[in-house]
Amino acid sequence: MTNNNKKIILHACCAPCASYPIQKLITDGFEPVVFFYNPNIFPYKEYEIRRNELKKYCIDNHIEYFEDNYEIKKFYEKIKGFEKEPEKGKRCEICFDLRLDKTAQFALKNNIKIFTTTLTVSPHKNSDIIFEIGQKIAKKYNLEFVQYNFKKQNGFKISRQIAKENNMYTQNYCGCQMSIRN
Ligand code: SF4
Repeated sequence: MTNNNKKIILHACCAPCASYPIQKLITDGFEPVVFFYNPNIFPYKEYEIRRNELKKYCIDNHIEYFEDNYEIKKFYEKIKGFEKEPEKGKRCEICFDLRLDKTAQFALKNNIKIFTTTLTVSPHKNSDIIFEIGQKIAKKYNLEFVQYNFKKQNGFKISRQIAKENNMYTQNYCGCQMSIRN
């Protein structure tokens, strides 16, 4: 990877959620480098589907793509005691922290000073909590976390339109075992 001030690491959870943020960042003059680290996703088959779909979307659109390992044991260790929390509760904060911390480490390793996340595109997620966690991690690594609230300006709706147009797989649950709806 070459160094470039305009590069930004975009933590991405799946292709539909990444589609609009990628477009938005490019429009705003950034060069997004997509980073997939989501050990929360269950089961592994689902993880593979989401990862492969995102990777394909990046390749098709000439976006740099990187990923880290499926550390599901680490995810369970981190959320221990919070399994029964409702969505938007403490378990989700830990989940955001785990994923954004790894993203910041990746940015640091590749000498890219700024990062953000697609997680704010979801209407089911509290962007202010994500911003708070992003800022805390940015401070820890001396990086900049850019506070994009991607759900604004119809971001979520546009992301779903892009997903439809591209015939993307779109899941009906957030990701972890606890979020699977019966
Ligand atoms: S509901 Fe979503 S954000 Fe919350 S812990 Fe599960 S996967 Fe993570």
